[in-house]
Amino acid sequence: MNQPKSTFRSEVAIIPGIAWWLALLAWVLVQVILVVIVPHHAHPKDLPPMPVWALITVLGGTILGVVILMIGYVNADSKRRGMNSLLWTLLVIFVPKALGFIAYFLLRKPLMLPCPKCGRAVGADFRYCPKCGHAISPMCAHCGRSIQSDYVCCPYCGKNVAVVAS
Ligand SMILES: [Zn+2]
Ligand SMILES: [Zn+2]
Repeated sequence: MNQPKSTFRSEVAIIPGIAWWLALLAWVLVQVILVVIVPHHAHPKDLPPMPVWALITVLGGTILGVVILMIGYVNADSKRRGMNSLLWTLLVIFVPKALGFIAYFLLRKPLMLPCPKCGRAVGADFRYCPKCGHAISPMCAHCGRSIQSDYVCCPYCGKNVAVVAS
């Protein structure tokens, strides 16, 4: 089955609203901590010069915000791929050095596609729709292997399969 095309924009669109709010909140919090609280308690000599400190503040908040958005993305993306969404969300949060993210992007399943008959989302490797029993990838009636719907003869056993409709 062909995977639907995904663009950066369509991927960003699946990030849940709550993740955007949390990212914004985290960004504001970092600014408050680094602009108001830290300079108030630290000796000015212990802090880097003002332009560097401003850069650290803005960048730090932005990086934290992006990480939160990526956690939101993994949460939504794993759900639509029929993976264990809670497990993967926890993994990307708690596995250090972004290893959880790397593992996720290496191991994630292909996107689920709608069943041609009933529309239920089915895994890319499913042969039958779990809801209506529709044969998603047609099989040879003689040897049971997956074939294309336009095949007349099975390429595996050579029998005539024109009668087996998908
Ligand atoms: Zn179906
Ligand atoms: Zn066959």
